[in-house]
This record gives sequence, C-alpha cells and structure tokens, in this order.
Amino acid sequence: SQSLSLHVRMLLSISSNDHALELVLRKAASMDLAFFEAPAFYDRLENAASETRRVHTITFGVFHVLGLLISIAAMLGLLATSLHPLAIPVLLVTTIPQAAALGYFVKRRHRVWSGRTRLRRLSRYLSQLLTSRDAVKEIRLFGLDLSFVSRFAEARRAFEEDERDYRYALVRVETGFNLLSLAGTASLWAYAVVRAVGGSITVGDVAVVLQAAEQARAAVATVFDRVVRVYENRLYADELISFLDLEPDAVSGALAPAVSEPRPVPRPIIRGIEFQNVGFAYPGSEEPVLQNLSFMLPAAASVALVGENGTGKTTLVKLLSRLYDPTEGAILVDGVDLREDELSDWRSQVGAAFQDFVRYELTARENIGFGRVEHVDDTVRVSRAAQQAGAMSIIDDLSEGLETSLGRTFDDGTDLSGGQWQRLALARGYMRDAQVLILDEPTAALDAFAEFEVYRRFADLTAGRITVLISHRFSTVRMADRILVLRDGRLVENGSHEELIAADGHYARMYNTQADRYR
Ligand code: ADP
Repeated sequence: SQSLSLHVRMLLSISSNDHALELVLRKAASMDLAFFEAPAFYDRLENAASETRRVHTITFGVFHVLGLLISIAAMLGLLATSLHPLAIPVLLVTTIPQAAALGYFVKRRHRVWSGRTRLRRLSRYLSQLLTSRDAVKEIRLFGLDLSFVSRFAEARRAFEEDERDYRYALVRVETGFNLLSLAGTASLWAYAVVRAVGGSITVGDVAVVLQAAEQARAAVATVFDRVVRVYENRLYADELISFLDLEPDAVSGALAPAVSEPRPVPRPIIRGIEFQNVGFAYPGSEEPVLQNLSFMLPAAASVALVGENGTGKTTLVKLLSRLYDPTEGAILVDGVDLREDELSDWRSQVGAAFQDFVRYELTARENIGFGRVEHVDDTVRVSRAAQQAGAMSIIDDLSEGLETSLGRTFDDGTDLSGGQWQRLALARGYMRDAQVLILDEPTAALDAFAEFEVYRRFADLTAGRITVLISHRFSTVRMADRILVLRDGRLVENGSHEELIAADGHYARMYNTQADRYR
C-alpha cells in the first residue's frame, strides 16, 4: 500500500543517509591535518556532509522512472496503433522543452548554491557563536548579539532571494511549457474526434484514446521531471562523491606516503632526535615559518623552546609529532628519517598536552583515559596519570569521582574551571607513558600552587623521556636541561640556562625583562 511504501522509503532513506555520513566521517578521519587547515577543502567536507541525503533520492528517482517508463510504453503503443504513429512524436516534442528548461534552471541554481558556500559557512558559524555557551559572556559584554543576528539574517536573506528567483523563473517557464504540452494533447484529441466523425474509429475508441493521451502526457512529464531531479541530485551529490574520492595525499601539505617497509620506532630511543636543516612553510603559503633548524634533542633530556609569539614553537612540535612533514631537511630518530617510521607507531610514542587542549564533555575518566584509549578502564593507570598532573584533588572533589560527567552539554555535567580542565589535559598527556612528551604551555591556566606542584615533580615526570616544553615562564624554562631560543623561525641560541645567561644574548634579555618585574 501507499503508506507501507512510505515507511519503507523513510527507513531506507535514514539508513542510506547515515551510511553516507559515516563514509564522510571515515574519510575525514583519514585526512591529514593539512586538510583541516585549508578552507577550500574544509568547504568540501561541509558540503559533502550536508548533501548525503541526495544519495537515496537518486536511487528512488531512478526506480520511479523505470516504473513509469513501462506504463508510458504501453500507452504510447496504444495511441500509435489505435490513433496514429505520429501521436508519439507529438507528445514527446511538446513535453521535452519543459524538461530542458527545468534542467537549465536546476543547473543554474546549483551554480548559485556552490558560489554561496562561504556565506553558508559564515551563517552557520554565526548561529553557532550565538548559541555557544563559551562565547556568550563576551558577546553579551561587548554587545555583539544584535549585530551578529542581523549579519545572520542578512545571509539568510541572500539565500531566500536565490530561492525566490529560482521559483519565480520556474513558475513562469512551467506555465508556458505546460500550455505547450497541453496543446500537444489537445491536437491528438482533435484528431481523434475528426476520425470518429469520419467513421474510421468508434466513439469507444475515442474515449480510450482521450484517456491514454492524457495519461501518457502526464507520465512523460513526470518522467522528465524525475530525470531532471536525478540530474539535480547528482549535481549536489558530486560534492559528496568527489570528497569521498579525495586521496589524502592530494591535499597540499599532506604527509609523505608511507614507505614500503616502515621501521618500528626504536624502544628505547638511544641517541635522540635530530633536526637537520629543517624548514617549513604552511601549505598554500610561501612564507617559511621555520628555517634551517639544526639541533639535537638528546635521549632522556628535557628541552625548552623559548621565543616570542609567532616564532614557530608550536609549528615545531607539530613537525615533531608528525602532524606535518618538514618542507625542507629532515627529522631523524636515532639517525633514521621520521618519514620512514610507522606513523601510528610514532604517534603512539608521543604524548602531548597542547595549549588549545580539548575539553571532552564526557566523564573525568574519559578525559584522562583518552590519552591511551585502550586503557581507559584501567583505574590504576588513570589515577596515576591524574596524580602526575596534580589532578587527583579535582577528581576527589567530584561527586562521582572518575565517573562524573563534566561540562555543561549534558544535564548531569559538572563544569570545571579553566585550570582544572588543563590539569586533566595534562593527565591525558601523562596517560601515554610515551618516549616523547610535548608540553605546550601546560601550566598557562594553572594557579601558582598548582603550577608549583606540576614543576616540583617535573624531574620525576620527565625522567627517561625526551620532553619538549614550550613556556613563556622562565621559572619553568630554567628547569629544562637545555634551552632552544627561536627568533623568526630560526634557532638563535642553544644551551643550558646558565650558559645562555652567561652568553648575555637574546635569552638573557628576555629572562631579565621578566625577572625585573618580580624584583
Ligand atoms: P608560536 O607557537 O611560536 O607562537 P606558531 O608556530 O603558532 O608560533 O606560528 C608561527 C607562524 O606560523 C605564525 O606566523 C603563524 O601565523 C603561522 N601559522 C601558524 N599556524 C598556521 C597555519 N595553520 N597556517 C598558516 N600559517 C600558520
């Protein structure tokens, strides 16, 4: 029955939509970081994800057309034999122009839609901002609400206008061509009447012919309409298809493809990690962010990276964790190019607490355990990581300990302060037990006591691994065995705190400037 087929259709559409979305997400997960940082590619991801529903519409459109074609063939056959063979071309020729016009408009509309990708993203971004809890404080305080709402409304108006233009044009054309196709049918009727009057067909035949002509006309029009719809959906689905077809290394800045026999990462790393004339420019940019960097991160040493904002410290650790490959030179691990190591094995050996860490609005256990997700249920290990990051007191204060939901996304969530979230992120980094530990401003949000606690244990926590520490606090920096000073993407000084102070260069100046404020 009609309603049964509707239910089946709904179910199929949901499952094919979900399946397509899953394919999109899997694809996105396989793409390198470079993909996410290139707006053009990111547009494709968003368009692909928003057009997954097109897939099932295409399938149904095709089946619908096949069904109609059978009944059209029967009716045209009837008309050709009982009226005149020319009835077929008359019906087709008077209906085709409408389909052609529709096809044209559909294509034009798709072009307009593609051209609006940026505006669509902007309007989505604005609506997210306006409904985001993180942004609400600032937006209220600066009184940005209304201005954002009107920018949003302006974007929506542009979409509305596009749609109105399209609909108006469509109605005009459809009305005109509808008349044409009606004229085609009417001519068949007239011809049938003439023949009945002349006595060559019976009045009963006329009734049959009239009905067949009208049904055939309607069915042909529907077929053309469906074909155009399939074509239309195909245009939009192209975004999805071409996205799914993307090769990860087609994105500029993607990682070098795996070598045929990747090396397992040495355990332990014996000599250390060497940067050899490393240079780097972000994809799509000529400007080198790092230039000619050569230095050693000796096994088991802690190394601090120091330098002004924007000198490339974070970029350097992105190269070290192999989120990007250097555009010049090489990073060697015990003498072998990092590109020859197995990527996932290398990543598993790198633990990190990033400055822009993620707040997973899930349980406290998951926030820590995600550092090594296969051990998320290992309470001993999770607690030890919490301890190392000085996060145990936070856990103890939570109503359900490790099982407490955090954040405000869900009803039962407990929100934490910025510093508390940061300690969980730090614990996540420790959870890895990795050979290389990256700490990017790991204490920026911590209060003085919490920071002291983290650094009191610094020697313990960094023992036996290569630690790379980025910090603007010299009380922290001086704990490192070795300090690398970067300036405009180049290495300008390299030594221990005492050596660099004695050298009285850039480091000494930065150190004294900060120290003076506390005297
Ligand atoms: P730091 O960590 O020392 O503050 P970064 O490594 O974050 O410096 O940035 C170094 C330079 O690289 C900056 O000039 C910044 O504008 C640029 N940069 C950072 N990230 C990107 C990116 N994803 N794409 C293009 N340029 C970037």
